Amino acid sequence: MVVKRATIIGAGLVGSLWALFMAKRGYEVNVYERRPDMRKSNTGGGRSINLALSDRGLKALKTLGLESKIRDMAIPMHGRLIHLPDGSLGGLQPYGEHGQYINSISRGGLNELLMNEAEQQGNVTFHFNTRSLDIDKGNSEVLLENTKTGEQFTTQSEVIFATDGAFSAIRGSMEKTDRFDYSQYYLPHGYKELSIPPADGGGFRMDPSALHIWPRKSFMLIALPNLDGSFTCTLFLAYEGEVAFENLKSEEQVKAFFAAYFPDVVTLMPNYVEEFFSNPTSSLVTVKCYPWVFGNKIALMGDAAHAIVPFYGQGMNAGFEDCSVLDELATELSEDWPAVLEAYQRSRKPNADGIAELAVRNFIEMRDLVSDPFFQLQKQVEKQLHRKHPERYVPLYTMVTFSNLPYAEALRRAQVHDSFFIEAEQANMALVATAPDKEASQTLMDAWVDEIEKRY
Ligand SMILES: Cc1cc2nc3c(=O)[nH]c(=O)nc-3n(C[C@H](O)[C@H](O)[C@H](O)COP(=O)(O)OP(=O)(O)OC[C@H]3O[C@@H](n4cnc5c(N)ncnc54)[C@H](O)[C@@H]3O)c2cc1C
Repeated sequence: MVVKRATIIGAGLVGSLWALFMAKRGYEVNVYERRPDMRKSNTGGGRSINLALSDRGLKALKTLGLESKIRDMAIPMHGRLIHLPDGSLGGLQPYGEHGQYINSISRGGLNELLMNEAEQQGNVTFHFNTRSLDIDKGNSEVLLENTKTGEQFTTQSEVIFATDGAFSAIRGSMEKTDRFDYSQYYLPHGYKELSIPPADGGGFRMDPSALHIWPRKSFMLIALPNLDGSFTCTLFLAYEGEVAFENLKSEEQVKAFFAAYFPDVVTLMPNYVEEFFSNPTSSLVTVKCYPWVFGNKIALMGDAAHAIVPFYGQGMNAGFEDCSVLDELATELSEDWPAVLEAYQRSRKPNADGIAELAVRNFIEMRDLVSDPFFQLQKQVEKQLHRKHPERYVPLYTMVTFSNLPYAEALRRAQVHDSFFIEAEQANMALVATAPDKEASQTLMDAWVDEIEKRY
């Protein structure tokens, strides 16, 4: 029997998941990862300790039969719980209808589970402390280096997948080729992680069934729950300016900043000052490039192809959706890899661009609009429209998070929604929001959905 071989560069979330998909297809898979084995060395990679997993990511995990294991590791978050500047709670803004929620899950825990599951297939080998240096585009070989010994070697296989993250070395090699489009854009904001430990004696210090947000217009703090009762908080703040990381240099400045903007959280974070100075301030980048496929056999996936800012909680979900799409195409096109990879990049690129734009927009929504009355009114109206016409009117957040509608189509429809609501009479919107059962509201909603559908 002919042995089918695949190479994967990077054993992060997407590479480990894709290794499992390829193993199930019967490939002998070699995965090369720059870092040591996180299962033995506890290297979290320095990035967000927990992530929001939603329907697109879950779809890929379900295909592999992992849904129940994943649900055991996840905490459902049903909405945004807003913390106002005076320290009071602004109420829960549900993400969707009853039973719709996103999942807070440990990045390391999920990555380890995926590696274990892949290894258990028997045809996947992870090579740690091994980084890719370059590709030979002609022969489609990858040049690798053992980071402990310095030994360099090449690997060849039928197909090669680069899942080596936002600063992909493989993509770096592609950048030197003719007609390769590439852009990277940094937000003026960076982020820093802090933590809220479990309550004395165990349990959570805040409601664990929500994603907590402290929106402060140009900056914000968020918190996601962990299974051990703690919360991981992330402060998103400009690098430069009056209220910015550059002006938080001393203990006094940090304490004054938190007391002024986050008075309720200070009492929950006994170590925030130490953590502020010991944890890194990290940047937020959007990377776009094209093509994603070279020599008919090397493909970029996940952040290597499309790194986005984290405000829609979709980076990993989009990478997992790459895996679902690629797997479906491999079946449809009988593993004719040149054809599969071409169809993959054509179908995914517009959607990657769509979620990149939505992710940047959602930062403005989270840090600013969640406390804006017009925004809240529109959300209320959209909820009523969705309840009355669940199939015909779907709010943007639901399209992105609780459906598998292509991101580009979700963005297009959302643009129609936004322009419609800017035109709609606010008095009518208030009527629909506050008295949806009134006959006048019902008539308005029917007419609005007809009109919105016409504009799609
Ligand atoms: C603050 C923050 C919060 C986020 N929150 C969410 C969220 O809530 N929901 C969500 O869906 N997404 C979220 N994301 C995005 C998510 O983290 C990424 O989209 C996801 O990690 C991408 O997975 P990946 O496997 O493509 O890349 P990575 O996870 O970056 O993995 C790449 C792997 O490749 C390895 N590597 C790098 N270079 C080489 C090399 N030369 N040779 C070999 N190996 C190499 C790395 O060590 C790493 O293991 C967040 C991101 C950030 C920064």
